[in-house]
Amino acid sequence: YGDASQKIDYVFKLVLIGDSAVGKSQILARFARNEFSLDSKATIGVEFQTRTLVIDHKSVKAQIWDTAGQERYRAVTSAYYRGAVGAMLVYDITKRQTFDHIPRWLEELRSHADKNIVIILIGNKSDLEDQRAVPTEDVNEFAQKEGLFFLETSALQATNVESAFMTLLTEIFNIVN
Ligand code: GDP
Ligand code: MG
Repeated sequence: YGDASQKIDYVFKLVLIGDSAVGKSQILARFARNEFSLDSKATIGVEFQTRTLVIDHKSVKAQIWDTAGQERYRAVTSAYYRGAVGAMLVYDITKRQTFDHIPRWLEELRSHADKNIVIILIGNKSDLEDQRAVPTEDVNEFAQKEGLFFLETSALQATNVESAFMTLLTEIFNIVN
C-alpha cells in the first residue's frame, strides 16, 4: 500500500461526508490500510490518510479527509472542503434517515466546496442486506437526476471500496488531463 520512494505526479484531496455512524471512517480504514474495526470509537484525531496508486502510468496520491465526529453537530467547516476535488457522500443502506439527509449534504457541498467537485454517492453496509431500508433502484434514479456516481459498498467485506475510490480518482484524473 503505497511506496514512499516513488515520485508523486498528482495529489488529490478527497473528503468524506455523511451522517454519523454510516461507516465513513471504516471505508477510509479499508481503503488506506486494508483494515476494518467493528468498534466505532475508531475515529482518532487524524485529519486525513493517504494512499498512493497508479492511474494511467502516473502516480496519484489520494489525501482523504475524514470528519472527526463534527458531522453530529453540523460543524464541518469550510477548511474541511477547501481544495477538495472529490467527495464521497455516504449513507447507510439500513438507515433510511441517513439517505433522507443526502440532499442536505449536497447543499452543504454545493455551498462550501468547489463547484466542479466530483461527487460519488455511497450506500454503505451492503453486507446487511436483510436489514436494507433503502432500495437500490430509488437511489439509482436519484443519482442519475443529480448527476452523481453511485455505488453500494461494504467496508466490512471490502466490497466495492476500491472501485468507489477508483471511480472518483479516475474521473478527477480525466478532468485534469
Ligand atoms: P462514521 O461515523 O461514519 O465514521 O462511521 P464508522 O466508520 O465509525 O462506523 C460506524 C459503525 O458501523 C461501526 O461500528 C462500524 O464497525 C460499522 N460499519 C462500518 N462500515 C460497515 C459495513 O460496511 N458493514 C457493517 N456491517 N458495519 C459497518
Ligand atoms: Mg468517523
